[in-house]
Amino acid sequence: MLAMKKSEEWIFRDEGHDYPVTVNYRNRRSLGLRYRNEEKDYVCNVPYRFPREEVISFLQKHASKLRKRVESRHRISPYEGDRVYLFGEPTIIEGFSTWNEVKKEKYLKQQLLDFLSLTIEKDEKEMHLKTHYQVKVRKMKSLWGVNHLKQGDITFALMLVHYRKDIIESVVYHELAHDFYRGHGKCFYQVLLKYCPSYWALHQALGEGNYDGNHPIKRKSED
Ligand SMILES: [Zn+2]
Repeated sequence: MLAMKKSEEWIFRDEGHDYPVTVNYRNRRSLGLRYRNEEKDYVCNVPYRFPREEVISFLQKHASKLRKRVESRHRISPYEGDRVYLFGEPTIIEGFSTWNEVKKEKYLKQQLLDFLSLTIEKDEKEMHLKTHYQVKVRKMKSLWGVNHLKQGDITFALMLVHYRKDIIESVVYHELAHDFYRGHGKCFYQVLLKYCPSYWALHQALGEGNYDGNHPIKRKSED
């Protein structure tokens, strides 16, 4: 029996900084790479027996770009004392900084629910949908919205409450377009862009943590 190494610690050097990389060998078919902004490190999941040089060239190609994308998402905090980005506008909420997490969450959730309930009703009519979706809001880490077609509800990420209303609505259109098509094929985007022509610009603002949608990050051309 030959034991396989399960995990290794590497260092990835980029722009004069060393970033730890945990390389996990797993029973999988392709490489997966994550950058963790809090830890400032990478986690790379690699298939067993994958050539080391290929992992290295994969890191060289993707790691820096991935890190910058993740960092830009964490660029501005939606809170600063009592100042909260609410629907894309810095808004003073008296006493907000003294509230506990539960109270903050409850308040923001209600704000978003109120907005989404009205918006989704309007958009369902506009898109001639037969389904009336129930709106749910919860904290989600990696998704902005999920359409549970079977249950007839759509769950939205609480984080959306900080964004400008048309940016939030682009997520509503996206999830409602899944009423027509489940996947993200050409037909899906045709429906989506018909109702939300500026979808891609709004979507970019979302990915950049650009709450007011007015300060797009200039990107170096991606090679
Ligand atoms: Zn989708």
